[in-house]
Amino acid sequence: MLNWLGSEKIAALSGQLRHQAKMVHVLLIVMAIYFAVLCALNLFVFGDFDIAALDIAGLAGAIYLLVYFRRTANLKVTSWSVVLILTGILLMFIHITSGMAYSIIWVTVLPPISFFLLGRQSGAWVCAIVFCYVVAFFYFQTQSAPASTPGMASVLNIAEVLLAHWFLFRFYERSRSDAYAELERLSETDKLTGLYNRRQLDMLLTKEFNMYQRSQHPLTLVLCDIDHFKRINDKFGHLTGDIILQEIAETLRLNMRSTDMCGRWGGEEFLVICPDTTSEGAIAIVNKLRDALTQKLFAKDIKVTLSFGIATSASDTDAEQQLRRADNALYEAKRRGRNCYVIAAEHRGA
Ligand code: GH3
Ligand code: MG
Ligand code: MG
Repeated sequence: MLNWLGSEKIAALSGQLRHQAKMVHVLLIVMAIYFAVLCALNLFVFGDFDIAALDIAGLAGAIYLLVYFRRTANLKVTSWSVVLILTGILLMFIHITSGMAYSIIWVTVLPPISFFLLGRQSGAWVCAIVFCYVVAFFYFQTQSAPASTPGMASVLNIAEVLLAHWFLFRFYERSRSDAYAELERLSETDKLTGLYNRRQLDMLLTKEFNMYQRSQHPLTLVLCDIDHFKRINDKFGHLTGDIILQEIAETLRLNMRSTDMCGRWGGEEFLVICPDTTSEGAIAIVNKLRDALTQKLFAKDIKVTLSFGIATSASDTDAEQQLRRADNALYEAKRRGRNCYVIAAEHRGA
């Protein structure tokens, strides 16, 4: 949907933000259609020009925000604007109709929209303020013109329903965002080691390579493979092998810089993506890792070493090519006797 609705900037958003961007887009289109239809009805059927003017303001706001969002992909500003425009029009509508014609019903659209777009905290504040205002408005209407208003019992009913709405949507938004975060975590994590999985590494690799092409800051890939891991499995069993994989993952995690990204590339292979790093920088990381590995006490006192293939972006045309060079360098490290690193030769064209 984003391909035909949104800009490149919006399509580049990921995870929760992308989901939110879709929602903002759809919401703005629905808002525009609703306001257009309501405006036509108020102009030509009911002859209610005040409310038609409100609808025109809503329509103009929705179209303006749609264009603004496509151009800037600024989710925060657009989300707040959507909620504020809706709230403003909603309150004016209630005022113009003096709370009659079931105008209050429109307040119930506010919680799903504001909780989702603004998050649990800001959504709760916006809804609480608007709901208090609406209940107070109805209360004073009841006081000032008792004959033409629904009466105190109705004001209480309105307050109770709005309060229930507030609690339910707050709870719903909390479960929804927690479930989404957990789903996101599971979809990008390797179950055994807790590092990024292959899927996430593929995504990060493409993203970092694109970044390198724009900035020309060197990107270095380090492919690591455990030496003679099959022997460990054969001698100590598969379960011990699993523990060793977890211990290596922990060692990698502890020895990375915060800007490096590390994941499990395959069975006993790991990939470290080092943005803004030259091959000298990567060698320093590898040496630090090798020191940590020699000092580490692995399960059952097993001695574990790794071989490394290092490739720094140079004349590569895509991430796959750079990765292939890292893989060839790793193969060369194995050939040279393991427990060492090899820097990949530069790519020499097709
Ligand atoms: P080399 O030094 O050439 O890399 O030798 P190697 O034995 O490490 O490489 P090889 O490709 O021959 O064997 C890899 C082994 O890794 C075989 C496979 O059973 C084991 N392996 C892959 N994934 C897992 C896993 O999740 N758990 C365990 N315990 N072993 C695994
Ligand atoms: Mg291997
Ligand atoms: Mg191996």
